[in-house]
Amino acid sequence: MAEHNCLFMEKILGTDIKFLPGVGPKRAELLGKELGIHTYFDLLYYFPYKYIDRTRFYKVAEVKGDMPHIQLRGRLEGGQVVGPPRKKRFMALLRDETGVIELVWFRGLAWIKDSLKPGKEYIVFGKPTRFGSRINLVHPEMEEADKAEKQINASLQAHYSTTEKLKNSFITSRVIRKLQATLLKMVGSQLQETLPAALRQEHRLLPRRDALLNIHFPKDAATLEQARFRLKFEELFFIQLNLLMQKMVRSRQVKGFVFEKVGDYLNSFYHEKLRFELTGAQKRVIREIRRDLGSGRQMNRLLQGDVGSGKTLVALMTMLIAADNGYQSALMAPTEILAQQHYNTIHRWVEGLGIEVRLLTGSTKKAERRELHAALQEGRVHILIGTHALIEDEVQFMKLGFVVIDEQHRFGVAQRARLWEKSGGTPPHVLVMTATPIPRTLAMTLYGDLDVSVIDEMPPGRKPVKTLLLNDSKRERLFGFMREQIAQGRQIFVVYPLIKESETMDYKDLEDGYESIVRAFPPPDYAVGVVHGRMKPEEKDLSMKHFVKGDYHIMVATTVIEVGVDVPNASVMVIESAERFGLAQLHQLRGRVGRGADQSYCILMASYKLSPEARKRLQIMVETNDGFKIADADMRLRGPGDIEGTQQSGIPFDLHIANLGQDGQILQMARDTAEKILAKDPSLAQGENILLRNNIRLFSGKDKDWSRIS
Ligand code: ADP
Ligand code: MG
Repeated sequence: MAEHNCLFMEKILGTDIKFLPGVGPKRAELLGKELGIHTYFDLLYYFPYKYIDRTRFYKVAEVKGDMPHIQLRGRLEGGQVVGPPRKKRFMALLRDETGVIELVWFRGLAWIKDSLKPGKEYIVFGKPTRFGSRINLVHPEMEEADKAEKQINASLQAHYSTTEKLKNSFITSRVIRKLQATLLKMVGSQLQETLPAALRQEHRLLPRRDALLNIHFPKDAATLEQARFRLKFEELFFIQLNLLMQKMVRSRQVKGFVFEKVGDYLNSFYHEKLRFELTGAQKRVIREIRRDLGSGRQMNRLLQGDVGSGKTLVALMTMLIAADNGYQSALMAPTEILAQQHYNTIHRWVEGLGIEVRLLTGSTKKAERRELHAALQEGRVHILIGTHALIEDEVQFMKLGFVVIDEQHRFGVAQRARLWEKSGGTPPHVLVMTATPIPRTLAMTLYGDLDVSVIDEMPPGRKPVKTLLLNDSKRERLFGFMREQIAQGRQIFVVYPLIKESETMDYKDLEDGYESIVRAFPPPDYAVGVVHGRMKPEEKDLSMKHFVKGDYHIMVATTVIEVGVDVPNASVMVIESAERFGLAQLHQLRGRVGRGADQSYCILMASYKLSPEARKRLQIMVETNDGFKIADADMRLRGPGDIEGTQQSGIPFDLHIANLGQDGQILQMARDTAEKILAKDPSLAQGENILLRNNIRLFSGKDKDWSRIS
């Protein structure tokens, strides 16, 4: 087989869509803008979202008013424009051996009148509508029966999503189907196989050509299923192959600092400071990290673990190893409150060890900043903790060896890239910590080239948070419960949804909520604080500080408290309008309590009228505390595009057909297969593997170096 150097095996698939008969420049522009279809390839891989069975023909006598789209076959009779001027419509009849049914058009009357041929046999496709006592078909699709025969595989009919703009320009699902037919007729015979024969046999994959033909024009349901399987596999396989290849190249080419020894800093921390045993999971992760640090290659590791599972401690111990080897570390947090909190925690942990920890945020004063810059460059600072301020150009290190990124999804890829420049050529080791549990399938795709460590065990002695679902009629009971808890010395969060920071309505909810809480918990017996995104950072900070100190019994808040904030004495989390939150967010919020030794509670307040989906979501929260189970459920319920935390980081490519929520098994298979092939033939040079090398970027879009985490 000939080798091509272009992205596509078939040069013709790179052709601009405007050259396809039936498209032209205007439609091409719309297709590009609305659906991202720019080339023949894009159209060919624009797959239907559903199919309608057209194998079955109904008889007129069988038609009822509540049927979905159906298909009839009969002779067209009559046909005339009727009705008063402003309510004109075109009526015709379709007759088969069992009866007649009305066909009606309200628009395009002139055109329909000219194109229909009374007396001819038609195949009619449409949705029956009841109209008083009569049933008719409104705006049915009409096909002359003797011409319909010639269609490709017309058994299951593909339907494509379109947009309002496309429909207004008459680019309907039907038109897209016609374009697909035109395209397949042109390129069908030229479509090349992308997968080696052995691989296709092993997984019983349909040839690519058949798969692409049948995905648009299925011969029958079984073949369609095979086509879908083949195309899903192909897509996931090439993505994994690409990720694994990049990981391999990087681990061969990117050298890393070697931290070979454990010295005084870590030893005295471990023996003098740490008052508890590490969990088994923490020990395992530290071993994994130490193996990376000794390997001579750069570490790129994702550390996943539920809120409170002890990730920060693992990061700190790694920073101490860096210090033991003469390197500086940096920890980057998404918000000032969090940076401050990390600073406090870490500062306390390392007190007396001779480790210099400093904080750098947007509000660090100029003079201090100048002094800090110098201290960093002279290597007098071991650990720098901060926000985005940390990646500004003036911040230079003497010997930056290790970077921790907390809650990375809030940092853009470009921002991370700037860390690169701070360690003089050799990249620092990177540990990305996240408490947003990402379903395994998604992690494999988003971070397929990273190594992943998971802390799947909570420190002992934690009582799992009890979660209750209540509706508004139980508010008095809720307030009673809150008073009891406050009487026992606990503090309480009450969180209101704030979907978009600009939504005035939401602030109204928050303000009303705050007032009603103050009414129910009046001074001087009670103190209620408030924190939300419209406050100035200093105000926010001050309010949070009061709560942390215990000055407030209740903190009314928006989701600004979602990430990280640690108030061990807060043991009740009330979430208002809980149905408006996503699962990941609910889980994050619940993670704010349950940090101390007391029994904690999460109370989900919701409307008693809930959509089935919302009810399911809240039910999952009641049933489990396991972040990974929740993430998987979230993915199943909503699809990966909606998973919070990944929206910000953005799935770096659009999947054409695979669904990470449903196709976990195929994904695993694809990854295993890719690993096996690369193990035997790392440069994909042997035999038919050349096909793989030529197609490796087929589904990896355009700017594909995203997998380099930094
Ligand atoms: P994360 O960063 O995963 O949210 P942290 O590292 O902040 O978790 O740990 C949460 C709390 O649990 C901290 O107060 C920490 O001191 C404590 N902790 C961490 N590991 C253990 C352990 N093995 N045993 C007991 N407590 C622990
Ligand atoms: Mg933490």
